[in-house]
Amino acid sequence: MHAAADRLAEVRERIEQAARRSGRAADDVRLIAVSKTKPLQAVQALAELGQKDFGESQINEALTKIPALAGGGLEWHFIGHLQSNKTRYIPGNFQWVHSIDSLRLARRVAEAAQQAGVEINLLLQVNVAADPAKHGVASGELLSLVDELLGEQLAGIRLRGLMTIGRLDAGERETRAAFAQLRGLLEQCRQRFGPAFAELSMGMSGDYELAIEEGATMVRVGSALFGERG
Ligand SMILES: *Cc1c(COP(=O)(O)O)cnc(C)c1O
Repeated sequence: MHAAADRLAEVRERIEQAARRSGRAADDVRLIAVSKTKPLQAVQALAELGQKDFGESQINEALTKIPALAGGGLEWHFIGHLQSNKTRYIPGNFQWVHSIDSLRLARRVAEAAQQAGVEINLLLQVNVAADPAKHGVASGELLSLVDELLGEQLAGIRLRGLMTIGRLDAGERETRAAFAQLRGLLEQCRQRFGPAFAELSMGMSGDYELAIEEGATMVRVGSALFGERG
């Protein structure tokens, strides 16, 4: 418990400093605690320390935790690859999906949300680094996806911004360049969508400070908060 408090305090402090370096306040950056593979008790411990946002990357695993923590005012972010046959589990469990990379997937989430009578916040995942091992829409195809989505005017979803996963093998310069590229894409999309399209989900334990310096509004931090082993 003590260790969790120390790790959370350290990550918050680093976020605040990085936000300041980018001319923003710590409140402008949302810390998402990525609790995948971590036990329910570890999530509960962080929640008791005031952490509100949590991220999971597998539906089945998430469903063992989210209902158990219902009523605590937590906000859940789905950050993994979403299979279309699992979209029905999003409403009622998750408020955000960071990994939308096709019109088809956006439609599926929208349908499920309409049936449940809720609205889900969506981010479009962009494969900025053109990493063949990663999901996400290619940078060059993002604006046409955005136009198609706008054309559909789907109820039940709200498009809020972009997400990317940095290359694990990249050095600082390359990582920074990828984050800056995502921010450039957000600015282009924002002109079409309007000001509500403002979120940039980028940065993990190894690179969240860089991501904040480059404009991240959401960072997804797992091991730096929970420790390496679950
Ligand atoms: C696991 C994961 C994270 C967190 O990674 P850490 O290196 O443990 O901070 C962030 N984003 C996504 C999409 C992940 O799958």
